[in-house]
Formats: sequence, C-alpha cells, structure tokens
Amino acid sequence: MSTRGPGVRLLIAIAIGFVMGLALGFALMGAPDAIRTEAATWLKALGDIFVRLIRIVIPPLIFFTISAAVASVADLRRLGSILLFMFVLYLGTSVLAATWGIVAGAVFRPGEGVGLQPPAGYTPPKPPSAVDILLSFFQLDFSALLTVGGAMTMIIFAIILGIAVVLLGEEGRRVYSFLRLASSIMITVVRVIMYYAPVAIFGYAAWLIAVYGPAMLGAYGRFLVAQYSLSFLHFFLVYGIIAALGGLSPLAYFKIQSAPFLVAFATRSSAVTLPTNMEAARRMGVPEEVFQITLPIGATVNMDGTALYQALSALFVAQLFGIALTPAHIGIAVAAVLVGSVATAAIPGGGTIMLAFVLGTLGLPLEGVGIMMVVDPMSDALRTALNVSGDNACTVLLSRVLGFRRS
Ligand code: ASP
Repeated sequence: MSTRGPGVRLLIAIAIGFVMGLALGFALMGAPDAIRTEAATWLKALGDIFVRLIRIVIPPLIFFTISAAVASVADLRRLGSILLFMFVLYLGTSVLAATWGIVAGAVFRPGEGVGLQPPAGYTPPKPPSAVDILLSFFQLDFSALLTVGGAMTMIIFAIILGIAVVLLGEEGRRVYSFLRLASSIMITVVRVIMYYAPVAIFGYAAWLIAVYGPAMLGAYGRFLVAQYSLSFLHFFLVYGIIAALGGLSPLAYFKIQSAPFLVAFATRSSAVTLPTNMEAARRMGVPEEVFQITLPIGATVNMDGTALYQALSALFVAQLFGIALTPAHIGIAVAAVLVGSVATAAIPGGGTIMLAFVLGTLGLPLEGVGIMMVVDPMSDALRTALNVSGDNACTVLLSRVLGFRRS
C-alpha cells in the first residue's frame, strides 16, 4: 500500500497528550474528592470514545489483513515457516518474561508482611479449566467472531480462508485482489480514527493518575516497582537484542516503537493498539505480508507483559497469604502463566481475569484476583505496552531470518 501514515507528527502529538495528561492527573490528585471524581469520569470518557471506535474496526481489520496476507504468500510452505518461527519466538520470549516475573517476586518480595483484603462485595470467580480455555479458541457461532473475545477464532477462520484462496489458484486471484483492497480500506479507516488518538491518550493518562496514583503507596507500590523494573529490563534488554539480531538498531526500534508503546500504555488494550503497531512495523521496514500475519496473531496470543505480571502476581498473592511455594510450584506457575497469557483477551483487565486460572492451577486463594483488581489499571498500562512491543521485536527478527526483503 502506498499511502504513508501520519507518522512523526502524530507521534509527537500523542507524546504531548500523554505528558499533559500525566501532569493534569498529578494536579488532580491534590484536588477535593468530588472534583477529582467528576473530572476523572469525563477524562476517561475522552479515552473511551477512541477505544469504542477502534473496537468496531477490530473484527473486520483482523479478518481482512490476515486473510489477504495469507493469500499473498502463495507458497503454503513459506506460510508454514512464518507461522512456525513466529510461535517459537513468541513462546521463547513469553517463557523469559514469566521467569522475570518469578525473579521479581523473589527479589522484591512485595507481598511480605501485609494482610490485604479483597474489595467489599467481591466474590471470587470460578477459574476456567484447561479444556474450557482450549475450546474458547473455537467459538460456536459466526456472530461470536465479531467480538473481541472471538478474535482467536476469527484468526483461525481468516488463515483457513486465505489458504482456500491460494488453493483456488487463478480463480482465487480475483478474491485476493478484493481482500487486499478491503484490507487497505480498513487500515485507512483506522488512520482517520487515529487523528483523535492524542486527545484520547491525554484523557486516559490524566484519569489513570488521578484515580490510581494513590495506589502507588505501600504494598501495591512495591508490586508496581517490581513489575515496572523487570518489564523495562525485558523491553530494553531482550527486545533491544532481538531487534539488533533482526538487523534493526535498538535505538531505531525504541524510537519507532514509542508510538504504539504510549497508545498501549494509555488504552490498555493490545487489540486497540494493533493498527498503531502495524504502522510502526511498516516504519521498521517489515514487509506487509509478514506483519499482517504476525501482528494480529501476536496481539491475541503473545503477551510477555501479561506473562510477567501473572507470574509475579502468583508470588505476590502467596506472600500476602503467607503461603510458601516449592520449586515444583514455580514450574507449574510458569506453565500455567504460558497458557494464561495466551488465553488472555487483548482488552483492559484481561490479564487479571485470566489470573484466576493461574491462581486456581496453583491452588492459591482466588481472592487474589480481587486484590489485584485494586491496582490493575496501573499495572495493565505497562504490561500492555510490553505485550505489543514484543510482537514487533519478534516480527523484525522473523522477517530477517526468513529472508523477507526490508523496505
Ligand atoms: N490489557 C492487556 C492487553 O490488551 C491484557 C492484560 O490485561 O494483561 O494486552
């Protein structure tokens, strides 16, 4: 596609919106409660408008970009190697992230010596079983594919449809042209909506600090310090190295990735950040046929930030309740976190809902989910930023290793 994105100017506008939002949020922290609450409600609404617009676009965007990209890789063996290498990279980085979460819990010990209570009126959820999770990847009805929760099934459907188009041979080329055009149109729709992003990011950043700033004190503060330290380490060290291995200087990667990073931080949704992440991949020189497959799938299944968070949360909850974990528990925790992070929906708070599965597998008190909800938005902001950044780092490396031309 030839149209260039709004690029640097939009990135600067988003960064300015973010900083102004943080400043207003800190100012509001000192305001009387009634004013702070009323202002926060309006500020959050500014962000919600953006998220709702993007969420409408997500199902057709995923469908058209993936099916068009799959159909464009006319060689099915090549498609197989993209999918295989993608899963190896996504899995490898998630194992590493889960390990960082364990290290953070063991080193910072954020939950030790505190007795936290779940929010009033909270009842622990029933954790889903592994079979429930597996079957949730295959929704029952086509209408379910149109929701963010049905994204995984939509991906599977789009891949199969793309393969069918390839198998149709000459005749399929006409359908391919249509899919390609529809995919460009959906991306352009997103670009138009993106002009509103700086206002949304401003609103969300201010709301986040005004409402959740005070939670930065005490045990939650220690938890956030542990999570943020290791998440930034993963971002700069692991993704820096992966980008370099992919032939992109780490500095260029960090610079271009800063736009999706901020959008993810403010919107707390990998799905909503998908279009911005695709634009960044394009600017990193990754060909469309690669990132249009790896990024929508990555947004849905590859969540390093969530893996780190869920592993750390398991230790945090165990520490709060004074439960000792054995090395065997730690192994189970890493395995459960891998399943949990794949199954997490790419929406705000998805990782804390799926935390029920991780805690349930380890036999830890499910009240932990309620405890984590108190601090969820602050934690979600950074884990989502890490989630989307990992998709792009892996995409850069994959594109080089499999010999796709960097434009
Ligand atoms: N909000 C995260 C995302 O969309 C998922 C999570 O809650 O951990 O990537």
